[in-house]
Amino acid sequence: MGGTDKKAAMILERLGVLQSGHFRLTSGRHSDKYMQCARLFEHPQESAELCSDLAGRFRGEGISAVAGPALGGIIMAYEVARALGVRNIFAERENGVMTFRRGFAVTPGERVLVVEDVVTTGGSAKEVADLVRAAGGVVAGVGAIVDRSGGTAAFGAPFHPLISVDVSSWDAKECPLCRDGVPVIKPGSRAAG
Ligand SMILES: [Zn+2]
Repeated sequence: MGGTDKKAAMILERLGVLQSGHFRLTSGRHSDKYMQCARLFEHPQESAELCSDLAGRFRGEGISAVAGPALGGIIMAYEVARALGVRNIFAERENGVMTFRRGFAVTPGERVLVVEDVVTTGGSAKEVADLVRAAGGVVAGVGAIVDRSGGTAAFGAPFHPLISVDVSSWDAKECPLCRDGVPVIKPGSRAAG
């Protein structure tokens, strides 16, 4: 379905999770947007609100557990699970391979919602989905706060992000903002309004 949840976009901008301006990314490229999703979870009340909104899109799907990838997906999975009133588990990398540790398990036939804060290529969420399926579980859906994949992320299950963000970036030499003389800032600096 896609589409952007206006309330979510407003909250993310207000909290500085999603910033507009002129940024020099760590890659050296320039962009007019910058996102730091961890900053959302700095604010438990707004986190709970957005995760609850996201959970609402999966209600009635017979979900009995929410799984997220460490590190970014842990708090999010917890909040979405709380909103749905179901179990929360997380997956983490062991020697580079996404695994359920700590006794976390999915039972055969169990319907699991996979969540990740930001989906770019969808890699981590996809690995968690594969893990759920390998355990005999059913991936009932994939949820995200932000979809940055430009609609290319596919999980073999319904995918609902709260908002979709197109992040354009340019080689510094071709940056239209530089051409317009807009000062460039390094993300993370507190200078941004
Ligand atoms: Zn620039």
